[in-house]
Amino acid sequence: HARTSADLIRAEEPVLAHNYHPLPVVVARAEGAWVEDVEGRRYLDMLAGYSALNFGHRHPALIQAAHDQLDRLTLTSRAFHNDRLAEFAERLAALAGLDMVLPMNTGAEAVESGIKVARKWAYDVKGVPDGQATIVVAADNFHGRTTTIVSFSTDESARAGFGPFTPGFRIVPYNDLAALEEAVDETTAAVLIEPIQGEAGVIIPDAGYLTGVRELTRRKGCLFIADEIQSGLGRTGRTLAVEHESVVPDVLLLGKALGGGIVPVSAVVARREVMGVLGPGEHGSTFGGNPLAAAVGTAVVELLETGEFQRRADELGVVLREGLDALRGHGVTGFRARGLWAGVDVDPALGSGREISERLMREGILVKDTHGSTIRLAPPLTVTADELRSALGTLEKVLGQA
Ligand code: PLP
Repeated sequence: HARTSADLIRAEEPVLAHNYHPLPVVVARAEGAWVEDVEGRRYLDMLAGYSALNFGHRHPALIQAAHDQLDRLTLTSRAFHNDRLAEFAERLAALAGLDMVLPMNTGAEAVESGIKVARKWAYDVKGVPDGQATIVVAADNFHGRTTTIVSFSTDESARAGFGPFTPGFRIVPYNDLAALEEAVDETTAAVLIEPIQGEAGVIIPDAGYLTGVRELTRRKGCLFIADEIQSGLGRTGRTLAVEHESVVPDVLLLGKALGGGIVPVSAVVARREVMGVLGPGEHGSTFGGNPLAAAVGTAVVELLETGEFQRRADELGVVLREGLDALRGHGVTGFRARGLWAGVDVDPALGSGREISERLMREGILVKDTHGSTIRLAPPLTVTADELRSALGTLEKVLGQA
């Protein structure tokens, strides 16, 4: 007989690594902003795959692009050209206002690749002595889980037990231009930051910070790498979060929603003088730039070219902020929001972020805590105003119950 949600959760325990602690919901189907569990219960997805599902589950245009490509060609490796990659790169570079694309698969790979490009640029172009390049990063960053990336994490649970670590990183407080000024020197290849820190709790820097980082990196002769893997592709009401300050970085890291919630697609997008440092054999990926990924990625770029999703995020962001404002003092102690993205601090007396997430789940709303008593709201950009209000109403109810 068919296994129940409880059966499936129990079945995972002995055979799956315990590196996650999922909410006890087993999703079997989804469409748009809604998912359905094994028993047919429906939930509004207010996490959207950590922003990998910005266009909702199974967006018709993306599913169509994937189906069409599945019927023609799925993988060549980069040993050969494929007929989908040129258009993907052309349109993605144009969308980003940059020149060249290095296609990869996951976010962490894009970060790793960006670091390699920046180091090579430091040696080949800037003239940093071999082996001495540094990269300046921010405290409380989240850039992924690989050995090099956790080397510059300030989260002990991400690092403990995984050393030795990759050298060459300097950590400064986020949103602190004076600290950045002090840390950047003639060895600095790049400053790598998230324009809004997602995993840290949707931390939005002061107005002027991103402009300041752009000005400082230009003046000091190092690269500005913006990790927009979570903040990018419509989430904040703009294609990129850096657009809120009209800033163009030298290197842009994209992932998550670039794959339309269908396949892993990430990319480093950069100016020609920077990406130009890579030559044949110096970097690569078997799956990076595969035709299925390129077809879906192109369809994603096409959706973003309309501006519709950015506009929705901008407009619905007002609904989200108004709803959260009304909850201040009623279980919400503070929040930070931009577009359809919010970090909400819940009064710890009412429960941990995890407990609040579990209560919301029982009421048909899926969210995820970031840490402590902070929950993150990041619905698909296809969510309606009514769905959003309903979710906020459920949050009010759940906070009132505690
Ligand atoms: N960078 C940022 C800003 C992220 O939020 C994430 C994932 O949450 C990553 C990088 C890593 O992406 P992935 O999990 O696809 O490796």
